[in-house]
Amino acid sequence: MRELLAETAVRAARYASGIATRRVFPSPAEVERLQALGGPLPECSSDPATVLALLDDIGSPATVATTGGRYFGFVTGGTLPAALAANWLAATWDQNAAFSVMSPVAAKLEEIALAWLRDIFKLPETCGAGFVTGATMANFAALAAARHALLARQGWKGEEDGLFGAPALRVVVSVEAHVSLLKALSLLGLGSARVTTVPADNQGRMRPAELPTLDDRTIVCIQAGNVNTGAFDPANEICSVAHDAGAWVHVDGAFGLWASAAPSRAHLTNGIPDADSWATDCHKWLNVPYDSGIAFVRQPENLRNAMAISAAYLPQRDVREPMQYTPEASRRARGVEVWAALKSLGRQGLAELIERNCRLAEHFAEGLRRANYPVLNDAVLNQVLVSFGDAEMTRRVIERVQSDGTCWCGGTQWHGQSAMRISVSSWATTEDDVERSLTAILRAAESLAG
Ligand SMILES: *Cc1c(COP(=O)(O)O)cnc(C)c1O
Repeated sequence: MRELLAETAVRAARYASGIATRRVFPSPAEVERLQALGGPLPECSSDPATVLALLDDIGSPATVATTGGRYFGFVTGGTLPAALAANWLAATWDQNAAFSVMSPVAAKLEEIALAWLRDIFKLPETCGAGFVTGATMANFAALAAARHALLARQGWKGEEDGLFGAPALRVVVSVEAHVSLLKALSLLGLGSARVTTVPADNQGRMRPAELPTLDDRTIVCIQAGNVNTGAFDPANEICSVAHDAGAWVHVDGAFGLWASAAPSRAHLTNGIPDADSWATDCHKWLNVPYDSGIAFVRQPENLRNAMAISAAYLPQRDVREPMQYTPEASRRARGVEVWAALKSLGRQGLAELIERNCRLAEHFAEGLRRANYPVLNDAVLNQVLVSFGDAEMTRRVIERVQSDGTCWCGGTQWHGQSAMRISVSSWATTEDDVERSLTAILRAAESLAG
């Protein structure tokens, strides 16, 4: 075991030190070589070191270099050194985080991380939370708590009696709601299309003046950080209107919630803490390894009641049991890396990480504008949308940028226009990475224009 782990460390260190000089997306030949990992199920056992060597030799070159500084696709964080190291150690521990009796350390680290996160996001000290796989499941868990609370208020036991014949709940979303939120609604039986959709402005912010009449059977879903523009729904106004009517406000803050850690961006999150539930990701802007998201709920009992199970053999104790707050029972100890990331960054380090990414996004926007390519959004956070002309030209530029390998950016549609989307979310991205990437992007655009 000792030798194998040492060998793994050597291979991992080699991978990490090569990340800055390799192609960001693997070459077609490197992807093709993955065939070598297949074939029929082996009849006989292999030495673990041989398995590891094959995985590294064939697998490592076919990875996407998301831990380097020049991956700007989707909204993708890298992994902080302390978070990666903690992840290794935690994998060695192999703890089941379901119950505190199964892993006192996993349970304790969740509690500590939770207190720190409530502080960062300015959430109520009493709010409860579950450590889930990502923002999709965080939206799911938080909306399950909302469903529970609103049905209970009507005297209906949703968890026991289901939704058939239940008092109807209404869900209000922005036209800009993230698809994962709609998926969460579909999994919850609330319906992804059975929603009232509110229009948004040119940055994708919900227009509060166009909210329908709300009541105490309504869940209003708002967004902190639009996946295209980075814009925030006006939470102050929406929370105030919604709460006057007795409605529940849920915030999808997959990456945007982290703006509250950065002094120059914190104003964007004004009013967000007034909501009733919040979903966020840690594998995006906190830069911990996959998978890691958190669902927060103002009144913990709503989340607990929505997630409750009981059986004679399960511990019923007074302490916070992690699985009382999550859809999952057995799961890995996600709190370990969240704790390690926050412990290593501290308040200042986290602020610096968010500030730096936002500054570098501005830098991208300026460089593109200077070259006369229209930036389609106000780059208020870490997201930049740029057009290179018509849809076909923008598509070809994106394709050339991706195949060039210097950096990786994806495409999107914004208000009927095709755009390339740049998301600066990694702790590893430097000024130099942005300069090199800008040069590669402009080279691709100019070579196609000429
Ligand atoms: C990324 C994202 C999600 C989904 O998060 P996963 O971690 O992929 O489940 C939801 N909402 C927003 C706004 C996002 O950016």
